[in-house]
Amino acid sequence: MKNFSIAIHGGAGTLVKGMMTPKLETQYKHDLKTALDAAYTFLEKGRTAIEAVEVAVKFLEDSPLFNAGKGSVFTATESHEMDASIMDGKTLNAGAVSLITGIKNPICLARDVMERSEHVFLAGEGAMQFAKELSYEIEKPSYFYDEFRHKQWLEIKGTDSFQLDHSTKKDSKFGTVGAVACDQEGNIAAATSTGGMTNKKWGRVGDSPMIGAGNYANNATCAISCTGSGEFFIRGVVAYDVSCLMEHRGMSLQEASDEVIQKRILSIGGDGGLIAVDAKGNIAMPFNTEGMYRACKTSNGKETIAIYK
Ligand code: ASP
Repeated sequence: MKNFSIAIHGGAGTLVKGMMTPKLETQYKHDLKTALDAAYTFLEKGRTAIEAVEVAVKFLEDSPLFNAGKGSVFTATESHEMDASIMDGKTLNAGAVSLITGIKNPICLARDVMERSEHVFLAGEGAMQFAKELSYEIEKPSYFYDEFRHKQWLEIKGTDSFQLDHSTKKDSKFGTVGAVACDQEGNIAAATSTGGMTNKKWGRVGDSPMIGAGNYANNATCAISCTGSGEFFIRGVVAYDVSCLMEHRGMSLQEASDEVIQKRILSIGGDGGLIAVDAKGNIAMPFNTEGMYRACKTSNGKETIAIYK
């Protein structure tokens, strides 16, 4: 049996000063651990990396604390538009959805795009039509209502500004969720899900559902899930860039991840982080913000659950 491992994130950045209480910190860590344990149990039982990343992201989508699924932020029209993607490093198959509403677990729909359609990326009304054809239940807006997120939105409603999750400053906190895993067969996978940015409009889409930008997996190199200022992560083609540095420059997982997060993305003004695994079960979790909600567990007994540096 080979080493197996799982890493998850609930977004880079930190809560605005004064908002993080010991109680809230405990809740964040509790929800991270629940998702981590669920995925680790899958891997322990010999299930695939794809299954593990999907189950981890599902748990995080069901938590109101993170900006994905239930906890998604409000758009300029007081709705929720969610994006998600998943990729299988063994086959290089991928699935993604964008601008979807009312779907409890966008990551499951992304997986269905990968496995039950001929396509990779479905968006908006078409993606919703696909969900209906697969008999997905459509949740009422009240399922996604959260007083805190609604307040965040009311503060900037009607203005041209948009905001990353939890922030008073545009760039201080991102709440996207993601998971990467290496299974007992040495196959790796990545999954990412987000509600995007508060008050977003014009069909704005970030890096999270874009294969190569916010999410990527290839057994030959790495599986990556990103969080951060999506516009920069798209321009940096961040997830694929890590893979390229490993493939073409022979860098290790840690070296390539650090190069991209601590140098390349910073040099164009992007902030955030990523989680990464390779097919040997190694893990890297670099970020250039004050913190990143993150957790990981490996078959050789290492477990980390952390928020700040
Ligand atoms: N990357 C996400 C986006 O730009 C935001 C986040 O990481 O929270 O949509």
